[in-house]
Amino acid sequence: MENEKKSVVLSCIQPTAVPTLGNYLGALKNWKYMSEDYECYYAVADLHAITVRQEPAKLRKQTMEMYALLIALGLDPEKNVVFVQSHVPEHSQLSWILNCYTQFGEASRMTQFKDKSQKHADNINVGLFDYPVLMAADILLYQADFVPIGADQKQHLELSRNIADRFNQVYSPTFVVPEPFFGKVGAKVMSLQDPTKKMSKSDTNPKASIGMLDTPDMIVKKFKSAVTDSEAKVYYGDGKDGINNLMTIYSACTGLDYAAIEKEFDGKGYGDFKAAVAESVVDSLRPIQDEFNHLINDKAYLEQCAKMGSEKASYTARKTLRKVMKKVGFWQV
Ligand code: ATP
Ligand code: MG
Repeated sequence: MENEKKSVVLSCIQPTAVPTLGNYLGALKNWKYMSEDYECYYAVADLHAITVRQEPAKLRKQTMEMYALLIALGLDPEKNVVFVQSHVPEHSQLSWILNCYTQFGEASRMTQFKDKSQKHADNINVGLFDYPVLMAADILLYQADFVPIGADQKQHLELSRNIADRFNQVYSPTFVVPEPFFGKVGAKVMSLQDPTKKMSKSDTNPKASIGMLDTPDMIVKKFKSAVTDSEAKVYYGDGKDGINNLMTIYSACTGLDYAAIEKEFDGKGYGDFKAAVAESVVDSLRPIQDEFNHLINDKAYLEQCAKMGSEKASYTARKTLRKVMKKVGFWQV
């Protein structure tokens, strides 16, 4: 159905470090699936990244690398809109307006703010607090129907929905109220060193997460040292956070369900299981890594794609922003 209007999808990833296996299984893998059937807007969220202090040269490099990685995942820059957030000024503009439709109390309840302000106690800036409102702007600008996110972003998306609802009620229907979209498995990948915490690309312990560009050797080593338990029996259950996490990863990479995994490793030790998990991850990442290594040497092509992406994104974003400004009562000339 060529002419049928497709549902719109938006999702962002911060260029704070090389994305992790958590980012891949929780979010990026779905980006690829969704890019076939939806009108997709995918952004490298550099505005979000500076809520935590970044080294300028590193941020620039990481932004380009993240962009290349998105293309390497198989997102077609012609078919989808793949762009860098700061290239589209409407994000900041709408974010300011939405600030005035967000209650201090509701923003204060965001658990990521609490977590991150503990982690960065020396730099609890207003941007860190305001992060979810910028995220609402990202989503609402494109009138997104669905937002593929990992479970860690559920609360933020709920806030975006509340802001959209509120604005629509104060004025008249303006924004589509977005729905979350979670993948079937692997929605939340936990740290390999502390499986009660989510795997995060900005984690300072390199053993805690698998980077999407890690070599097979590194991947094998990190899984070998993953924290488990002393029971030495592979099954999904209470008090087995480490093994549960490895099962989630293995399941997401192989397509096997938990029962099949339990059967496969019946009578085998954690050593065998960890080696198999590592291998499944290496195999899943290999084609993406190969493509990335090829693309990263073609700067001109990447720049051309990023320009095309921001032009397409701006076109849609401007339409929404004008509508919002008119409703709020700004003099438009
Ligand atoms: P940072 O530590 O810089 O916040 P992050 O790993 O949390 O990095 P984000 O850029 O904040 O990554 O998020 C990108 C996407 O990855 C989001 O959709 C988020 O829900 C998803 N995601 C992040 N961490 C995980 C995880 N451990 N498991 C599943 N999905 C995740
Ligand atoms: Mg995050």
